[in-house]
Formats: sequence, C-alpha cells, structure tokens
Amino acid sequence: SSEKPLDFIRQIVTEDLKSGKHSVPITRFPPEPNGFLHIGHAKSICLNFGIAAEFGGRCHLRFDDTNPSKEELAYVESIIHDVQWLGFDWGDNLFYASDYFEQLYDFAVALIKKEKAYVCCLSAEEMRDYRGTLTEPGKNSPYRNRTVAENLELFQGMRDGKFAEGSHVLRAKIDMASPNLNMRDPIIYRIMNVSHHRTGDTWCIYPMYDFTHCLSDALEHITHSLCTLEFADHRPLYDWVLDILETPSHPQQIEFARLNLSYTVMSKRKLMQLVKEGHVSGWDDPRMLTVSGLRRRGYTPASIREFCAEIGVGKRDSWIDMGVLENAIRNDLNTIAPRVLGVLDPLKVIITNYPEDQVEEVEGQNHPQNPEMGSRMLPFSREIYIERTDFMENAPKKFFRLDIGREVRLRYAYFITCESVVKDETTGEILELHCSYDPETYGGNAPDGRKVKGTIHWVSANEAVQCEVRLYDRLFSVDNPDADRNVDFKEHLNPESLSSLHNCFVEPSLANAAPGKCFQFERQGYFCVDVKDSTPEKLIFNRTVSLRDSWAK
Ligand code: ATP
Ligand code: MG
Ligand code: MG
Repeated sequence: SSEKPLDFIRQIVTEDLKSGKHSVPITRFPPEPNGFLHIGHAKSICLNFGIAAEFGGRCHLRFDDTNPSKEELAYVESIIHDVQWLGFDWGDNLFYASDYFEQLYDFAVALIKKEKAYVCCLSAEEMRDYRGTLTEPGKNSPYRNRTVAENLELFQGMRDGKFAEGSHVLRAKIDMASPNLNMRDPIIYRIMNVSHHRTGDTWCIYPMYDFTHCLSDALEHITHSLCTLEFADHRPLYDWVLDILETPSHPQQIEFARLNLSYTVMSKRKLMQLVKEGHVSGWDDPRMLTVSGLRRRGYTPASIREFCAEIGVGKRDSWIDMGVLENAIRNDLNTIAPRVLGVLDPLKVIITNYPEDQVEEVEGQNHPQNPEMGSRMLPFSREIYIERTDFMENAPKKFFRLDIGREVRLRYAYFITCESVVKDETTGEILELHCSYDPETYGGNAPDGRKVKGTIHWVSANEAVQCEVRLYDRLFSVDNPDADRNVDFKEHLNPESLSSLHNCFVEPSLANAAPGKCFQFERQGYFCVDVKDSTPEKLIFNRTVSLRDSWAK
C-alpha cells in the first residue's frame, strides 16, 4: 500500500501542512453508541487514525451520544474495545458530545440572540407541509418572527421541562426557499423526556446531529472532519453554524465513499434487526460483518487494516466484493497460522499390517514455508481417520486419492494402499477401509524412489480429539440484499449460512488450544477456537475461511 498514490484526502492533508494552514492534522472517529461497529466503521477508523499516525497528528474517539433513546453504555464499551482491538490508540483524546451539552446550549442561546434561531410550535406534520419538496420551496413558519426575548424565554422553558415532548423545537433560521432541504430552517433542539446514559435526567432537551457535530469538531480543534458522501448535503449547514457562531476553529468537512460490501447489509439498524429477531446468535455471530463478529470468526486486526488499505478511499460509491475481505484474512493467516491435521467427515481406516497396540510418533512441520515455527509430534497407529471425500470407489484416473488398489501418502507418515472396503450390508454405506502400509516409507518418502500423486491428511483414531466444527457461508444469498425497496432484506437470508459438524477429529496437540487461536487445517482452510462456546471438554472450531489451494498436487 505504500507504493499507491495518495488518496484525495491524504492529498488535501499534505497540502494543508505544506501551506501552513495546519501544523498537524487532527481527525476524529465519531460513532453513535447505538449498536456495534461493523466493517464499514473499520474503514472510517483506519482512515481517521491512519491519517493521524502517518502525518504525526492525532485522532480523537468521540461518542456522538445525543440521542439517548437509542444509546447505551454497553455499546460505548464494545466500541472502545473494538477500536483498541483494531490496533488504534486515541491516547487522552476520548470525548463525548454529551460533555458539551452545556456549551451547546450556550451556542443555541447565542444563535437566538443573533436572530438566527427561533422556537417553533408547529406539529411534526405541519412542519413537513411547510417544508416543501425538492421542486417546491417551503413556507415560513408562523413562529419565525418571534422576538429574541420571546425565543429566549421559550427556549429556557424547554430546558426547564415546562413543555410536552413534540410541542416546541428550536430551529435555525436560514432559508425556507433553499434548494437544499437541509437548509430550510432545520431543527437544532428537541424535547425528549429520556434519561441519558451519561447525563442522567439533567436534560430534557437534546441537540440534533447537524448542530452538535460541527460544534464538537470545532471545540476539539479538528482540522479535517471526514464523513461519508451522504453528508455532502449537510456541509452547507455545518459551515453555516460555524460561520455564525464564534468557535475556536472551523474544521473542514470532507466526504468520502462509504464501504459497500456484497452479500451483506451494513447499517446498524438492519444488523440490530438480525440480532433482535434471532436470525443470528448476537452482534458477534461469526457470520456478522461486525468487528466483533469478524473477530470471533478468526479475522485478525492486521487483516482488517490490510483490507481497508487495499480498498482505498475514493469520492464515488462503489461495491467491494466479499472475496476481497476473504483474501485479506487468507493472506494473513497463510503467514501466521500453524498447520495442523483435522478431519471434518471421518472415515475409519484400519492398517491391517500395522502392529495392534503400537503407537509411534511422526514429526509434523508447523509451517512448511517457515521452519522457525518449529514442529510437533503426531501419534500414528493402526486405526486412523481420513476424510470421507478422500476415498472414491471406481474413481476416475485423475482422482489422486484412495480407491481400491491405489496408493497415497499420509501426510508426515507413510504410504498406504487400499485393499478392501467394508460396507453396511443393508444401506451400502462405507463403514471402513482396510489398507496396508509400507514400513519403508516412514516420513513420507519411498527409498525405491516410487512416487505417489496424492497426499492426504489423517488423525490417529484413539488419540485424536473429537470436536465440533462450524462452517459458515455468506449470510445472504444475493449480492445486494437491499437492492429492492419492496422486498425485506431478510427475505434474502441464506438458510445454509451455518452448518455444524459434530463428529470431527483433530490431532491431540490441539486439546488445549486457547480460545481465539487460529490454525490451518491442512487442505481444509483456516479455523479458530470459538471464544464463546468452546470448552476444554468440548472443543468448537469456527471456519474462518476456506483454502484457495491445497498442497496436494
Ligand atoms: P449505520 O448507518 O451503520 O448506523 P452510521 O453512519 O449511522 O452507520 P455512526 O456511528 O454514526 O454510524 O458512524 C460513525 C462513523 O463511521 C461516521 O463517521 C460514519 O460516516 C462512518 N461509517 C459508517 N458506516 C460506514 C461505511 N459503510 N463506510 C465508511 N464509513 C462508515
Ligand atoms: Mg448514525
Ligand atoms: Mg446511518
């Protein structure tokens, strides 16, 4: 990513530092604590914290907590944990918009005094009518010409709890004929009799996003306020507020394209529905594209950061294929995950010429491309399990695995040849294979130079650890579940997004594998120990991602 040209935001920052407009960039990541962070937020986190780090500035973590009806402390805590987990550090710069409530109130009073705000008593419905449409200008509210004294008194009354919810709002006095609907006297304060997770019952009026955000940025001396494209239409309001009020600074809002990822939905509101309606096990269900879901699935912070670097930052909305994210974790785990042997769909093999109660050890490399990762010993014995799909009767020539009369290499162990098949007499199901081994091929090579084309994985039946493996597929079966406004996105849930295999076996070195630890099951993919449900008595693995290639050539 270091060879890539600078994106348009980094170009702006570079120029602002060169021209002396700013000495360092100060950015912020401003989540609303009304849900868990998702991969789209990760893009914004990597952008804001990334710029701060690259240009020697700083990035604030600021909770945009001005709508207490939807916000909770639990969300604050999960967001803090997720941002840290992604590898970013805000130092002393943790802020809450709610800490500015008193200052924001004073700013609102200042607006009233400048005759730039008024208390309006239209009902919500009337206000909609007065607002006009994209093609028709709005009409002035009959309350628009209230005097400063009247407005000050009413606004104080709102704060003092004298009025019912919805009866009064404070509105900016801008232009009801503006072609930009956001400029038609937007609401900046409303009455809400809801306690706040930080300020309790101190307030019964709460400021709106557009009023809060620009002022919070200005109070924190943010230099570049980065947000997604849908806020471009809000920029005139952002600047209007900061131009009129005397604030310590006037940050520059810059919009970038949000992340859209195929085969998923990204809004917290929709993710919340999946959780509340039980379509998934929680915000951290490994199929969810939340940061906590990805973590539980086995994604590493480095892979998510690499993904964000790879997709870059642009000015036009686009779609990113889920495969790009999957490749990012594959690349990272390919480098760092120890290799192990695990059988998902076991078929018993009896090695008829191997001594009955002998158990010997063979050595397995933890990472064939990286000897520094060392090796471990694997027990080998007369009864082993192989993958059911590694045997086929009357197999075609190109099937380089087992069939009667064919020879394969057992990874790290011996060559075996299939002699016969034992079947259930009534169902015809294959119960076990009888094979012979060549004792001269210990370690996987024949002294006579004889070659076998296939190498398969296995575990020793007695010593292997039985476990559960959860295979995940994409949560939705169409690339854009939101495409049709008339069809609920949940209609497109993939009914086969989770399948649990309960009779899997892994090599005994995994018996005490730590929750969260990731492995490559050779020829199968990458798997991690589930952090929530796995216990030492019953190991549970999540498949993080499948392998692109297998080493069996
Ligand atoms: P959602 O619509 O999913 O609830 P939001 O934008 O309402 O998301 P916030 O908590 O307000 O969520 O967002 C915090 C920051 O993350 C904002 O600056 C927002 O622009 C950014 N963000 C949210 N979704 C995306 C996305 N898909 N791609 C990039 N940035 C995003
Ligand atoms: Mg939001
Ligand atoms: Mg949103």
